[in-house]
This record gives sequence, C-alpha cells and structure tokens, in this order.
Amino acid sequence: MELKIGVIGTGAIGMDHIQRLTYKTKGAKVVAVSDINVERAQQIAQEIGAKFVESGEELIRLPEVDAVVVTSWDPTHEGYVLEAIKNKKYVFCEKPLAVEVEGCKRIVDEEIKLGKKLVQVGYMRRYDQGYEEIKELLDSRKLGEVLMLHCAHRNPGVDESYTTPMAVENSVVHEIDVLRWLLKENYVAAQVILPKRTTSAHKELHDPQIVILETESGIHIDIEIFVNCHYGYDIKCEVMCENGMVSLTDPAFSSVRMEGKDFTKVSSDWKDRFVKAYDREFQLWVDSVKADELNGPNAWDGYVAAITSTACSKARDTGERVQIQLDECPDLYKNSLVLA
Ligand code: NAP
Repeated sequence: MELKIGVIGTGAIGMDHIQRLTYKTKGAKVVAVSDINVERAQQIAQEIGAKFVESGEELIRLPEVDAVVVTSWDPTHEGYVLEAIKNKKYVFCEKPLAVEVEGCKRIVDEEIKLGKKLVQVGYMRRYDQGYEEIKELLDSRKLGEVLMLHCAHRNPGVDESYTTPMAVENSVVHEIDVLRWLLKENYVAAQVILPKRTTSAHKELHDPQIVILETESGIHIDIEIFVNCHYGYDIKCEVMCENGMVSLTDPAFSSVRMEGKDFTKVSSDWKDRFVKAYDREFQLWVDSVKADELNGPNAWDGYVAAITSTACSKARDTGERVQIQLDECPDLYKNSLVLA
C-alpha cells in the first residue's frame, strides 16, 4: 500500500522532496500540496496529479493524507508540526524543528502527552554513506577513544538574506546534529571565534566563523563555517582518535589529467553533495512510517540542536564560552538511535 503524503512548502527543497517522493521513493505518493505561493503549488500539484490545498492546516486534516512533510519557511514549522501531532499524523519536518528552543519543547511535550513519536526532523547527514562509515568505525572502537574533531562547512557564496546568525542556525546546525549522533554524546559548552573577515561577505555577515564545541567526555570539535569560499560546496570531517584517524572523503567524481594537471570536480551545492543521503532519508522515513515505528532524528534531537545553536549564538555575541544545559531526556526518547 502506498503512503499518501501531503507536502507543505513548495520552495527549493519542497520541490526537490516532491520530485523525490514522486519519482524515486518506493511505496509513497504525494496526494496534496500547499504553499503560500499559490501559483507554484498549483502548478506542481497539477504536474503530479495531487490536490492543491489552500492552507497547511487544512492539508494536515485531509482524511486521505496519511503523513505530512513540512518544507515551508522556518517560523511556520512549529505550528504545522503541532497540528500534525494533534491529528495523530506522522510528520517529517525540515530543520529547524522550531525557531526557538521553547517551540521545540512544546512539540516534545505534545508527543510525550500522546505517548508516541510522530515527528522526524530533516537531519539528512545521518544517511550519508561517509558519515555512516565513520560511525561504524567509531562504534567498533578499533581506533580507541575519540579526542578531537576538525570540521569545515563551506559554501561557494550566499545572497544578501544570509546573515551572521544563520551561519550557526542554518548551516552548522547540521554538524551539531550529525556529530552528536556520531559521538553519542551531548555538548556541554560552545565558543565562537570571528577570524579575519573575507572581503566577499556583505555587510550583515561576518564570514568565516569558527565554532568550538565540547562534549560531555571532553572531546573538542572545531567547525569552520565559510559561506563565501568561491570554489564549491565542501564538507570536511576529520575525527582524531587515540589509535588513528578517520575522515570524510570527497564524493567520488571523475578526475581528469590534462596538460600536466589533475582536475577533480567539487560539489557545487548541498543538493548535489547530499542527494543520495536525501534519497535514503526519505525511503527509510516512508518505510518506518508504514511499519508504525520511526527511527530517524526525532523531536528531542530537534530540541538539542536548537539549544546548542542558541548557545553558539550567545557565544558569538558575547565572545564567551557558554555552558550548554539540557533538560533530562524524557523516557520516550531514551532508546532512540542517538544516545542508545
Ligand atoms: P524556500 O525556497 O524559501 O521555500 C520555503 C517555502 O515556504 C516558500 O515557497 C515560501 O513561500 C513558503 N512559505 C512561507 N510561508 C508559508 C506558510 N505560512 N505556509 C506554507 N508555505 C509557506 O526555502 P527552502 O530552501 O526550500 O527551505 C525550506 C525549509 O527547508 C527551511 O526551513 C530550511 O531551513 C529547510 N532546508 C533544509 C535543508 C537540509 O539540508 N535539510 C536544505 C535547505 C532547506 P514564498 O516563497 O512565497 O515566501
């Protein structure tokens, strides 16, 4: 039986996920779409034979919608996720789960009241083969204790709407989630260093930035976030352990040798770099919803990401090392993949 999905938000990633769910994911069908941009939503609805629905809330309540995908603007996520929980429907929400920590908590509280996990958050790096291989090796303990990580998150460029806080809240938040999942440890402190500013950054943006996180066992993580690096979209992760080192390789493209030089393609954007991870993320989400048991990044992970990125923002604004204190993990989330 096909899982009938309603998608709220037909912008860049919404369109991408609609195409994925329609043409790649097995056992799923997009039956309804909604967006504040009516024309674009109506057009895609017509293309794939889905229903256009005026409001996201109305879409969630449709009896023919089994599960919901939220890919709209960040501030709308919380409301749509709460409405889905109220209607006891599974919901896949693109990150962030909610803009504020309190919003994430309200979602966690509603799930706890229901006694069931219905929410998955779009932290797709957990489905990337490179990170999965690193996790497998770390879990095997062949390399001994993890001591430190050196990471980078580079984009070729951004437009004027990308501001200083977004470096953490929209970009580094992916590292925040995936590294916690790799290490199975929460963060206890954050610092942010603002190094020499590139002349390519517009006036509302300090670029690059360096985020330093510390985990419960004392692992130090440095993350360079540089969104005007010009040359491509480049994600680095090097994990230094007692008996060796493991790192992400670049995605496998072809290499050309010509005129005494070696040319290898670099990814141009996140869609290109993580396409396989998104495909896997959605196939496994659909399969788990059908099996009535979610196992991806959950609402608690969304809360932890929010509290950590809020601490990073405070660290950046104050120049201080900021302590991170989480509420106690509720029973509903204790056996989830992350800290199991
Ligand atoms: P986008 O292109 O701006 O799309 C957002 C869409 O939401 C737009 O069509 C926007 O309409 C619409 N919208 C605004 N308010 C709405 C409302 N009240 N109800 C329904 N739709 C509404 O942005 P995007 O890049 O696709 O990002 C969408 C979400 O995905 C964001 O939360 C972002 O953080 C997340 N994202 C995640 C990843 C990832 O790697 N996991 C990557 C990219 C984005 P208008 O255009 O008319 O404003």
